[in-house]
Amino acid sequence: MNVIAVECPACRLIESVEPGCLLLEIDGAEADDEKSSSASWICDGCHRLVALPIDLVVLLHLVAAGSSLLDTAPEDDEVAYPETATYGLPLTLDDLIDFHQILDDEAAFAAERCRELPENCP
Ligand SMILES: [Zn+2]
Repeated sequence: MNVIAVECPACRLIESVEPGCLLLEIDGAEADDEKSSSASWICDGCHRLVALPIDLVVLLHLVAAGSSLLDTAPEDDEVAYPETATYGLPLTLDDLIDFHQILDDEAAFAAERCRELPENCP
């Protein structure tokens, strides 16, 4: 099992923690200094959540060892999931039956496809 020696920036206690006890955060790509990320844990000495600045190489080693990387992406960058669609009417049972009938009939399927994508039809 991997253990990582960390020194608390508040009380200076040096302790060994498992990689899963560290939470990693990338503070921003716009930072010019090399230590633009941080590792956080709860110190056994002062019982506070403390953080140390770390550089990218250390961050990658900690991720490889099993530490968790916090998702700090802005809300706008999140992927929209289909179940959160905000337009259109929900499908009904009749829509589903019509869909299966179109799939069963090749001519109807081709006609429906031409209606949707006329540039692909003769
Ligand atoms: Zn401490």
